[in-house]
Amino acid sequence: MRPNDIQVSEHFKLYEFEDRAHDNLVVLHPLLLERLELTRKALCLDAEKDIAIIITSGTRTRRTNNALGKLLGWTSLGGLVCPTSHHLPGYGGLAVDFFALDKSTGAILPMKQVAIQASRFFDTVIDHYPTHLHVDLRHSAKHKATRNA
Ligand SMILES: [Zn+2]
Repeated sequence: MRPNDIQVSEHFKLYEFEDRAHDNLVVLHPLLLERLELTRKALCLDAEKDIAIIITSGTRTRRTNNALGKLLGWTSLGGLVCPTSHHLPGYGGLAVDFFALDKSTGAILPMKQVAIQASRFFDTVIDHYPTHLHVDLRHSAKHKATRNA
């Protein structure tokens, strides 16, 4: 069995949220999972067919975030990666990147269309990336450790 091969909700396994580059570390807030299931349900109802949510990035260690920053540039310099990304473990597993897949056709749903549903359930929805949406719950479920740090 691979690490984190654990069903954590109806449609998601724990390993989908892990840092794939380093040590399979995973921090996942239960509220994030709940909201992802709600988003999936809303997308299915809207499309009247089965839509899958494919996680592209969940937990991101400092090491992985630094590597991404070097690759895609830091936001302060016009790039795509934030040095204080909400994917970092210290934020308590409140951020995830994903795209939505029409399971019957294999087509990826337009990000703006998915964002309309996702924004019903998440505090922050960033839909200007070509390959994924970023969503997080930075206001709904603050992680005590970071607040008190
Ligand atoms: Zn993100």
